[in-house]
Amino acid sequence: MSETQERDAMTCRACGREERASEGYPCAGCGTFICLICTFRGVTHCAACAAKAPPSPPAA
Ligand SMILES: [Zn+2]
Ligand SMILES: [Zn+2]
Repeated sequence: MSETQERDAMTCRACGREERASEGYPCAGCGTFICLICTFRGVTHCAACAAKAPPSPPAA
């Protein structure tokens, strides 16, 4: 195992992709990793937290 690519990779709990941990943000609910891409999209909670407590905007 001498991969040079996944040293800093963590699985985003919102979209499931592996992104760099140092570029992501913690879930506002449980603190698990959420990638930068999801953060840019306005995602502040992981999939599990979003399912438990959906965010305020009741968009369809
Ligand atoms: Zn993500
Ligand atoms: Zn969470």
